[in-house]
Amino acid sequence: MRLRLARRSENALLAARLSAHSPQRGEAVSVWLNRRQFLKFAGLAVPAPKLTSAALPAPADQPEAIYQLPFATPPGPSTWYVEQWYGNTIFAYYLRSVIYGEGQGLHFGIDFACPCETEVRAIGDGVVVGADDLSFGSGPHNAIVRHPNGDLSLYGHLHRAPAVPWGRTVAAGDLLGYSGDWLDNVGCASSPHLHLEIRRPDRGHAVNPVHLIKADWHSAALGQALGFAKDLSDPRRWQTIEDQPETTFGGRLLNDFARLWLR
Ligand SMILES: [Zn+2]
Repeated sequence: MRLRLARRSENALLAARLSAHSPQRGEAVSVWLNRRQFLKFAGLAVPAPKLTSAALPAPADQPEAIYQLPFATPPGPSTWYVEQWYGNTIFAYYLRSVIYGEGQGLHFGIDFACPCETEVRAIGDGVVVGADDLSFGSGPHNAIVRHPNGDLSLYGHLHRAPAVPWGRTVAAGDLLGYSGDWLDNVGCASSPHLHLEIRRPDRGHAVNPVHLIKADWHSAALGQALGFAKDLSDPRRWQTIEDQPETTFGGRLLNDFARLWLR
């Protein structure tokens, strides 16, 4: 377990339960506060930075978006929507040393809020190479698909064991399982969502799904203001959903900013 609480008063409420960190892999599953509770606790239920920055063009070397969304339905308040982006999010900043420490302090996937038992579908063709492989984290149940180019997609916090077994060949859009709630997987009353990661073939790096999945991403957040932590020594870096660093699992924290702004 790697547990570092630099500001005890800020994290005291978390400290009581943040104890089950799985080294090297994925998100821990044992925390006390859900995201909304935590942001409220941290006084962050206020306007957040803009999601977009038209002045920052996407890098020219971005890969082609070859995957599709993990849902069959369009986004909406009763279906699904993005509730946490990949990268340097404010939520990940606060938990950079306790949940996301092995992922350099970044949120290394995208969280889609959705009711429990929402159908979760493969983002691309591939083979199921993980079914409840918790060495990847993102329990209590997960599914992992290896795509023809070697990428891995991980579907985390499923409500029950995947609907497809290890070794099954799947096509884009095939049903993999049903979404759950990472904190209350029985009652689904806490923070039901799907955590989706895309990892490089070595599985030791996670990349920003925004660049690889075809979607109207800005609409998919339903207008929610989901902020990123700002490093005042370089305040424009990592402030858009497109401009986020790759995650190297086990690498140094990237967001331990000396001069910080969280609005
Ligand atoms: Zn997540």
